[in-house]
Amino acid sequence: AHLDRIAAVDGDVHAFLHIDAEGALSQAAASDARRANGDALHALDGVPIAVKDVLTTTGLPTTCGSKILEGWVPPYDATVVKKIKNAGLPILGKTNMDEFAMGSSTEHSAYGPTKNPWKLDRIPGGSGGGSAAAVAAFEAPLALGTDTGGSIRQPGAVTGTVGVKPTYGSVSRYGLVALANSLDQVGPVTRTVLDSALLHELIGGHDPLDSTSTTTPVTGLVDAARAGGTGDLKGVKVGVIKELAGEGWAPDVMAKFNESVDILTKLGADVVEVSTPSFQHAMAAYYLILPAECSSNLAKFDAMRYGLRVTPDGDPSAEDVMKASRDAGFGDEVKRRIILGTYALSSGYYDAYYGQAQKIRTLIIEDFKKAFEQVDVLVSPTSPSTAFPLGAKLDDPLAMYMQDLATIPANLAGTPGISVPAGVSDVDGLPVGVQLLAPVLEDARLYRVGAALE
Ligand code: GLN
Repeated sequence: AHLDRIAAVDGDVHAFLHIDAEGALSQAAASDARRANGDALHALDGVPIAVKDVLTTTGLPTTCGSKILEGWVPPYDATVVKKIKNAGLPILGKTNMDEFAMGSSTEHSAYGPTKNPWKLDRIPGGSGGGSAAAVAAFEAPLALGTDTGGSIRQPGAVTGTVGVKPTYGSVSRYGLVALANSLDQVGPVTRTVLDSALLHELIGGHDPLDSTSTTTPVTGLVDAARAGGTGDLKGVKVGVIKELAGEGWAPDVMAKFNESVDILTKLGADVVEVSTPSFQHAMAAYYLILPAECSSNLAKFDAMRYGLRVTPDGDPSAEDVMKASRDAGFGDEVKRRIILGTYALSSGYYDAYYGQAQKIRTLIIEDFKKAFEQVDVLVSPTSPSTAFPLGAKLDDPLAMYMQDLATIPANLAGTPGISVPAGVSDVDGLPVGVQLLAPVLEDARLYRVGAALE
């Protein structure tokens, strides 16, 4: 049924870069056989899933939305991919994304943008717009995304889906083509909070192949979502983040956000205002730390080992080939960040830029700590506006970066976050998302409050 749906709508939506109909059908048949045999099944056995094209998949292309990896078929599965395969989830295909996960609209994909299923002239968010659109368009019931600065949560908000960034280190990054290693996390994209909890528990847990993997078991999320589903939030303290509201936030988004806060109060939560003054510097710090890390990560695409190779005429040196290949293989946003990152890391500038950004990162971690001494979870709108028209911010990188004002602090601090649908805007009828944030390793709180709000 999902393959039929993809055939019917993906020509318009373009959520997928590769569709693996044959593989998905044979995995589905194997699941049917297990069921017929009376085998013990995982709760999601046989439920199809779409995978962001930044996660490696044996035998299926992995492009990261970039021309530089066009045609590359990885010889290994990411740990999260291995886990979903082992649990019997058929993989429908790989989803579109901004090139190397840089962007907030999926327009930086080298393979053309994904459209928002709610309105095809609107962006589906980014960088994981393909995963969010696939779920919103009923092409897939579940998807995997990655969130480095909001790429699961912001697409979730603008497509009316649920998106979760787990605690840093609690889901393996092995086989996730790194954007910024200290910020990246894999997480679920679904239509309900309970579905996210089921998928999150499945993909989470320690992985010896990831040196930053935590050893704490990832459990209790499904129970928390079920408890939240009863709608009782008595005893839960919720903090509204003062700095993530007001000026710069669209009035229609704020209206829906305020309604959600009222619902939390009605369900028995104790809602107070909390201040996190360093959050206003989060974006500036992020756009130094992220380019610094990604400029180093992307150095491996040198046209020698894999991916695109462009050989200039004449008698080119290896360096000439690298230059020509990287020039042809990377898009403008990727080049912009490589230049920014190498500049910020160069000797003489390191302390002034990278060092300062790291200090802000510490202040943000301290702001979170202080806030969580007062409340159990924090709440804010997920993104400043509903889905904007395709092309509207393409020539203005700063305007694009502003989409992640509210989502970036959690990546800098390693804390978990969820975006939950909060209804549609009274102005344009498009979805609005509410973001919940919890302390490190307290992801269960997101599910309890998220399921109550849903
Ligand atoms: N939009 C942010 C960026 O461009 C977030 C990216 C992400 O989370 N992968 O960096």
